Amino acid sequence: MKKHYLHLSVYRCEKCQGPVVSGSLAVRENEISKETEKQQIGAACLACGSRQRAFPEETPARHFPPIDWPPVGGVNGSSVTAAYLEALNRAELH
Ligand SMILES: [Zn+2]
Repeated sequence: MKKHYLHLSVYRCEKCQGPVVSGSLAVRENEISKETEKQQIGAACLACGSRQRAFPEETPARHFPPIDWPPVGGVNGSSVTAAYLEALNRAELH
């Protein structure tokens, strides 16, 4: 069964050394398959509020275990489309 995951990681802010929380979404076709459709959804510093777009590869980050994150339609355009396509696929099966 297809599952959606939210990944969170934390690293230090370039400006203030505070914690920057970075999120990305990924999809797994089933329990044992690799994650696909991985997309960065943004990062922001909790201390100074600085928005950080690019994930700095060289910065050591702490990664949290992925969280179940089923799409509810409305996070962004592409997930709405994905949910719509999934609904269409399901409809065809019946
Ligand atoms: Zn900061």
